[in-house]
Amino acid sequence: MRLVLLVSILSSVAFAQLTPAQKLEAQRITDLMNADAAKQKQQPVKLTPPDQLFKKGTVRLFINSLMVNKPADYEPYLRFVTDEKLLQEAVDTVNGLVALPRDVVVNFRDCGEAQAFFDPKSGNITFCYELVRLFDQLYTKLAKTPEEAKRLIRGAVFFVFFHEFGHALIHELQLPATGRQEDAVDQFATLLLLEQGERGEQAALSGAAFFLALSELPGKKPVFWDEHSLDAQRFFNISCWLYGASPFRQVNLVAQGLLPAARAAKCGDEFAQVRYAWKGIAEPKLKRPFREPAPR
Ligand SMILES: [Zn+2]
Repeated sequence: MRLVLLVSILSSVAFAQLTPAQKLEAQRITDLMNADAAKQKQQPVKLTPPDQLFKKGTVRLFINSLMVNKPADYEPYLRFVTDEKLLQEAVDTVNGLVALPRDVVVNFRDCGEAQAFFDPKSGNITFCYELVRLFDQLYTKLAKTPEEAKRLIRGAVFFVFFHEFGHALIHELQLPATGRQEDAVDQFATLLLLEQGERGEQAALSGAAFFLALSELPGKKPVFWDEHSLDAQRFFNISCWLYGASPFRQVNLVAQGLLPAARAAKCGDEFAQVRYAWKGIAEPKLKRPFREPAPR
């Protein structure tokens, strides 16, 4: 039910009528974010001079046409990923952001499970076709048109790829992280998508929808000891940061009851904190500063 609601928000351009209280709250958060942006402009981050940045590390996409487990439906997905340039655009984005000390190969292949992961030993990222298939199964059911399904799949692929690249970034640049790295890289993925304006916001919501779907699987028990936050928490976190970054555009999340008002009230501060932390730890080693989220 919540999932259907979320996807309808994602695909509709009709915004909820704001109540005066919601409008006031969205304005409060917007003012807070603007004040924060002004403060950060006054204290520009010291970037590493370009000649001292890593020059060599490039992220390369390798799409495996050879199958390991020989799944029958591998080929169509292989074509889908190639034709839609699903991963290539995400790879180009991170290459524009940073160069790591060594090359990173992104392997698209069949794995036997719906996964994507970063391997600290090789420094490579694996994106399993089974995960794209899972997105396809989920979003084709929820979307009203094939185009919409494609958009949702693309968004979720972007989110997961940026999440995995966040692990690569932390590991390869030895960035300090207190707290769970899994949460930190969800933040990184959201920040990077917010740079792309509304399209990126929708992509982050597609990622969030995936976690919401996982949390609603019948019979699924929460894994409290896992290194990841619970799927439902990941959904609420991403929604909160998106709302905090652009409360007017994401007001539907609150108006439709997907993001409880009690959390929403803190999301402006929370997003500012997330952005501040990532700017502080990563920016000096990037090719360029993080871009401001689209105007609120
Ligand atoms: Zn992870």
